[in-house]
Amino acid sequence: MLSTGLTAVSKRGYATFKPVISAAKPVDGFVGALGNTPLIRLKRLSEETGSNIYAKGEYMNPGGSVKDRAALYVVKDAEEKGLIKPGGTIVEGTAGNTGIGLAHVCRAKGYKCVIYMPNTQSQEKIDLLRMLGAEVYPVPAVAFDNPQNYNHQAARHAESLENAVWTNQFDNTANRQAHIETTGPEIWKQLDGKVDGFTCATGTGGTLAGIARFLKETSKGHTKIFLADPPGSCLYSYIKSGGQLTDRSGSSITEGIGQGRVTENLKPDIELIDDALQIPDEESIKMVYRLLDEEGIYVGASSALNVVAAVEMAKKLGPGKNIVTILCDGAYRYQSRLFSKKWLESKGLTDAIPEHLKKYATL
Ligand code: PMP
Repeated sequence: MLSTGLTAVSKRGYATFKPVISAAKPVDGFVGALGNTPLIRLKRLSEETGSNIYAKGEYMNPGGSVKDRAALYVVKDAEEKGLIKPGGTIVEGTAGNTGIGLAHVCRAKGYKCVIYMPNTQSQEKIDLLRMLGAEVYPVPAVAFDNPQNYNHQAARHAESLENAVWTNQFDNTANRQAHIETTGPEIWKQLDGKVDGFTCATGTGGTLAGIARFLKETSKGHTKIFLADPPGSCLYSYIKSGGQLTDRSGSSITEGIGQGRVTENLKPDIELIDDALQIPDEESIKMVYRLLDEEGIYVGASSALNVVAAVEMAKKLGPGKNIVTILCDGAYRYQSRLFSKKWLESKGLTDAIPEHLKKYATL
């Protein structure tokens, strides 16, 4: 028997592969392929903190993000309530990922898909939505209390059509239900119930709220929950001040996260949140590059923000813990920004990237 380093090769020259014993069973279509994502132990950060930093690889969902789960649940909810019939139209307001999840689900189930999104979002997401057959309306990014906000435009569009539904991901609790029924239980099973901490950022709040609800209840209160916020979002100050929605100062390069109100998805679970962290963009962008360099993991800025928050949480809780967070989507959706020297310069973030990692900014 010779060893090639990669695989053992017999004297006759046939490779003898180790049997794969954990292969999943075949699944049915796009919907069947959703969920059951891997829980990835981040080796370097675990060594640095003395805790296990685990990241749920949601970017490996078939539509490429954590929002595939919510997309499926809001469509199933509309079907179960009889709000949509075959051939109908799903309309949604989204930073992009829910839209991409919906566009996939709509193709798989035979619905039309109409998406409103703020025009501040990356071109990659808009392009992908159109390639998936969605009708896309990028609109000016105005606050929720403005009638021209992308969500209200989506609602009006749905009202103007026959056999159409606005899935309303921010306030439709079928969104958090996806994480109560799937993501939370998967994490619990993957760690045999040994989950000391969970942290992630919020857009609609569905991911944080659903996972928090499941983990808090199942661990009988043991699992600590931290909300992670980018600058310019109100929830950090809301948690820290015990209920004041005041701080709207600042802005962030992260897409898909940050919130100015307590959505219906967050409301039932906000009291489960033990603490909040605010993560500066400098830390998030540096972590985008570190994850690529150290782990070979290519994810977007909200995922990186989550990982920074998990490290902070590990420091707060002390060594020997299992801390879990979410890798929301891949960096492919933002690479014309995150890996562009010009863009980094325009955001004043060039110096946030350590010298030895600058080689990755190749665009
Ligand atoms: N990260 C990214 C990249 C997203 O698009 C979103 C959803 N907008 C989130 C995180 C937050 O997920 P949730 O809506 O469940 O809070």
